[in-house]
Amino acid sequence: MKKVTGGCDCKNVRYEAEVEWDGCISCHCEQCQKIHGIYKPMIVVNKSDLKITQDKGLAWYESSSDNKRGFCKDCGSAIFKRPNDDAAAMSDKIMPSVWSLDDTSPWKNELNVFCKFRGYYYNMPDGEQKEIM
Ligand SMILES: [Zn+2]
Ligand SMILES: [Zn+2]
Repeated sequence: MKKVTGGCDCKNVRYEAEVEWDGCISCHCEQCQKIHGIYKPMIVVNKSDLKITQDKGLAWYESSSDNKRGFCKDCGSAIFKRPNDDAAAMSDKIMPSVWSLDDTSPWKNELNVFCKFRGYYYNMPDGEQKEIM
């Protein structure tokens, strides 16, 4: 297990977590493009291993019937994707954006999902393409 800390730009949202896996997943779906700009690189954490230590700026947007997105209403940083507790997939996980981590250097992208929805402006390198969804 690796301990990580992170949060938003203005620090009104802060969290700490214990993480099992040091790879990250990038989601290229249209919703992640709208919310994150180009795609969402994220780490996957057990809900029980993540603690929100500052929630002054935290707000939740219900992005689908299964998921909420956590962002800072003060600075606009998009931080979490959180499946509902009764969601069909990954209900015990929460996914912080890689760029919300205080130290992003250990994290390497290992998987791309929903690649076919990626924006035409994003020339994904050939070696990166893994059309698994
Ligand atoms: Zn903020
Ligand atoms: Zn997505």
